[in-house]
Amino acid sequence: MSEERASDRVIAGLGVSPGIGIGTIHVRESGALDVPEYSITGSQVPDEQKRLKNAVDRARRQMARLRSKARGRLNTTANLTSNEFGYLLDAYIHMLKDSRLVRGARDRIADDRINAEAAVQAEVVAIVREFDAMHDAYLAARSEDIREVGKRLVNHLTKASVRPLSTVPKGSVIVAEELTPADTAQLDPRKVVAIATQVGGAQSHTAIMAQALGLPAVLGASGLLATIKSGDQILVDGDMGQIVVNPTEQSLELFQRRRNDHLREKKRLNRLAKQRAVTRDGVEISLQANVELPLEMANVAQVGANGIGLLRSEFMFMNRPTMPSEDEQFEAFRSLIERSEGAPVTIRTADFGGNKSAAGLVGEFGESASSTLGLRGVRLSLARPEFLETQFRAILRAAAYGDVRILLPMVTTVSEVRTAREILARAARRLHRRNIPIPIALPPLGSMIEVPGAALASDALAQVSDFFAIGSNDLTMYTLAIDRGDERVAHLYNPLHPGVLRLIQFAVAAALRARIPVSVCGEIAGDPRYTGLMLGLGLRELSMTATNLPRVKKCILDLNLVAANRRAQMVMEQMDPMRIQALIEEFNEGD
Ligand code: PEP
Ligand code: MG
Repeated sequence: MSEERASDRVIAGLGVSPGIGIGTIHVRESGALDVPEYSITGSQVPDEQKRLKNAVDRARRQMARLRSKARGRLNTTANLTSNEFGYLLDAYIHMLKDSRLVRGARDRIADDRINAEAAVQAEVVAIVREFDAMHDAYLAARSEDIREVGKRLVNHLTKASVRPLSTVPKGSVIVAEELTPADTAQLDPRKVVAIATQVGGAQSHTAIMAQALGLPAVLGASGLLATIKSGDQILVDGDMGQIVVNPTEQSLELFQRRRNDHLREKKRLNRLAKQRAVTRDGVEISLQANVELPLEMANVAQVGANGIGLLRSEFMFMNRPTMPSEDEQFEAFRSLIERSEGAPVTIRTADFGGNKSAAGLVGEFGESASSTLGLRGVRLSLARPEFLETQFRAILRAAAYGDVRILLPMVTTVSEVRTAREILARAARRLHRRNIPIPIALPPLGSMIEVPGAALASDALAQVSDFFAIGSNDLTMYTLAIDRGDERVAHLYNPLHPGVLRLIQFAVAAALRARIPVSVCGEIAGDPRYTGLMLGLGLRELSMTATNLPRVKKCILDLNLVAANRRAQMVMEQMDPMRIQALIEEFNEGD
């Protein structure tokens, strides 16, 4: 959707990360190969075939180097998860030998008298078309491999490898069809000023990552790529969900004023950093931070969070071909714990799967590991117990340096927690045998409540868990059957649906009955509109993106808990999400 405003072009999308960013467009290429294509003469054929051969050799050498690096890691860390990556590389190397792809491209240069890049592209398209026509899952996966190898060959031919996102120039606005959470985790907020994409929902991990990095973001802006080109000026308004291409002076002035207002408000709120979050009737609430990457720690300290309530550990180990060793994870966790200066740190074991992929971990599980209903979170970790045990050993070693809790993502059954606890005990025994210091009492092991079945069985889960962290993002997605990353159903995603609120209430009540701590760490915890409701439902611990914390704290300072309890009861009697929304707004306005 695009509208003209004065003389600048405005495109609407979902404002998923607040603030306004103005910069130069850097278009992120998607998977499609965009290759130069031209005719050659008969006498140029041998030279062109030689160019192809050189590119094939270079690509094969590059793969072999990666392969031996993976092997080195395998030997030094006994990390068997790099096996899959090795197999994949072997398959790529094989495809670069005298394969159908290479032979086909060489023949096309001679037969069709076209340049090497175009010949590779044509052969890739032909092979993929044949594979697709066979409707076979195995061949469908091979199509991806063929495309990947074709892309590498073309890159070697044109010498224009895709520029990594981490090296874009200062002042760039990243524009793409879609950014994965792993892409977003590569962005350097000192260089990138905002993000705009055609695809993506408001609760996606890409949105969460943008907030964590403090980058204004608009996702789900349909038609965006057709209206822009690299080098254009662009303004991304994450508050209003608008993108302005080549903004006029008038627009720029207006937005600059709003940006200054933002900064002033942030400064004012940050003055609350040293103040405790105590309600008007004297109840202290623990406000903690959700953290994905170490670079967020400066912000965590600035807003005065009471520790880390959710470390999404998978983000620290994305964008790499193999999984991290025990030592590497230990160092990463220890550094975060030390920077938390004694405040509690809740480390969630890797929540890979769904749209958060890890090359070294998910290879053998195919589509199940990229499905939100498949091998995700603790399910994937339990399918690779050696990976979970390595992560537990790293966390246990780091726990000697501070107050640590361990959290399991995507728990559905009691047996998952029991098995994870056994693996934790085994990890501790191994460390004892190696004489490595770990705390005498093992860290508490908690469960994320983010699957409706887990919420409904929370009485049973409370018996085997030391604490609960309610993940309202996934709980909303799974309860309402709405993909949190799909912009087309974003308007239906609503954590205020009575089905979701009842599950939260149920899980909180079960935790309170079992006398175990319970927090909420989904996005609902960082939205001040819902703070009264959260406290009214009995929550005393909230964990959120650090930038949201000051506004939630301000709300708590103005809040009366007795009134919040009464209002929560009234909300829970409602059936209609619209009525619930209206009631909450009425309460908030009345304060
Ligand atoms: C959640 O689902 O609410 C949650 C906190 O986990 P994540 O957003 O990482 O899936
Ligand atoms: Mg979740």
